Amino acid sequence: MPAEHQELKTENLVILGSGPAGYTAAIYAARANLKPLLITGFQAGGIPGGQLMTTTFVENFPGFPNGVQGPELMDLIKAQAVRWGTKLIEEDALSMDLSQRPFTINTSTQSIKSNALIIATGASANRLGVKNEKQFWSKGISACAICDGATPQFRNEELSVIGGGDSACEEAEYLTKYGSHVHLLVRSNKLRASAAMADRVKANSNITIHWETELLDVEGKDWLEKLKVKKRNTSQEDEISSKGLFYAIGHTPNTSLFSDQLDTDQKGYLLTMPGRPETSLEGVYAAGDVADSEWRQGVTAAGSGCKAALAAERWLTKNNLASIIDREELEPTKTESSNTVEMSSESNFNSNKIWQKGSYALRKLYHESQKPLFVIYTSSSCGPCHILKPQLLRVLKESEGKALGIEIDIEKDQDIAKQAEISGTPTVHLFKSKELKHQWKGVKARSEYKSALDQLIKD
Ligand code: NDP
Repeated sequence: MPAEHQELKTENLVILGSGPAGYTAAIYAARANLKPLLITGFQAGGIPGGQLMTTTFVENFPGFPNGVQGPELMDLIKAQAVRWGTKLIEEDALSMDLSQRPFTINTSTQSIKSNALIIATGASANRLGVKNEKQFWSKGISACAICDGATPQFRNEELSVIGGGDSACEEAEYLTKYGSHVHLLVRSNKLRASAAMADRVKANSNITIHWETELLDVEGKDWLEKLKVKKRNTSQEDEISSKGLFYAIGHTPNTSLFSDQLDTDQKGYLLTMPGRPETSLEGVYAAGDVADSEWRQGVTAAGSGCKAALAAERWLTKNNLASIIDREELEPTKTESSNTVEMSSESNFNSNKIWQKGSYALRKLYHESQKPLFVIYTSSSCGPCHILKPQLLRVLKESEGKALGIEIDIEKDQDIAKQAEISGTPTVHLFKSKELKHQWKGVKARSEYKSALDQLIKD
């Protein structure tokens, strides 16, 4: 355990995971005045916010008759949990000891004791592991069409998706917005996706379904160019020209942290009492996909988070372990929607504004500002971008105006994205005096951006 670990008081309830299950559990526990502590996760098990952060329109979550973007739905559920008093730790849990009470959960900076625990760590996207996969990862291969589809290299090119479930169908449809044609590689002779989703894909003339087709390997030079495939149960090999390959081949539950301390099934999913959230250990509850290999829906995850919180509350109360907080305000302040920054133009450009949007601001600041500049490349439906932007904004605020941030939407500013050779979102560039000092792809720990910036400010 690192030296800087600090001991905290014993919590009533720690919730692990920040998908619909974790945040719904937090809403219920917070409204029961238990002041739950939720560890959002960071890099382990996908991005904070869970799988809905990499989904476009969610059309089946009750209450949104016209659908809602997955990341927006997660922002709303999170805001609701925070409004009622949930404390957040934006880190990964690295280890835990469930053999003694209170339980111990360690992150890279803290050791937390808790009387009860709700595990809502979800499941992670699978990869295929073909020979050249590593070489072309982020150079054509991606596990998230929704995050990376708008990348300039994919525009008007042939693209491929592998899988036959709802994710694969959704991604294939989505990619027709960008690619010239989409190939869907299905290993069996049927789609596992819901009928509505499957019908849409079958009816789309911009999608070709390759039935009973296996991926053998991928090839290219600096960027992916083609897929080597084989018809199942034959020796017939073929090639499919493709500048993008998107995996949508299911998930594995994120249980490695505790699988030796709690009962799991053969696939690694947590075992609970039938129809209930109790795991094999009293005081530990499971919610969402981590214990559900069958239903795996946002709404079922949310429902199971509710059950887990109610069960934990009952158990804490019965065992006299709940320390209930007194609320200062009976009605917590209403949350505000995330502030939308306007696109910068000649009329509203301000060289000292800490966060600006668009190519006008980028050009002006790049040529004229002496301050270090964070340039963050995003796309409208990129879930990880939702995680990253507030983190970068915090780093900039901490720098007290010594650095500035510019957000570039790669769909709105395609030329700039092409010039900067952006191959996925989010990508962050850190410039000083027109020189690119650092580049990050995906979401990194806030401390990485901060220490790089602090160093530049010092130099
Ligand atoms: P699924 O497990 O439903 O589907 C995985 C697909 O990948 C299957 O077609 C499977 O083939 C295929 N596959 C697995 N391994 C391989 C492999 N090694 N090579 C080739 N193909 C492979 O996962 P999804 O992510 O699609 O969906 C997960 C859950 O999320 C589901 O319950 C789904 O309904 C839900 N979802 C809902 C959405 C929505 O409502 N908007 C959007 C996305 C997901 P096979 O069929 O042969 O096993």
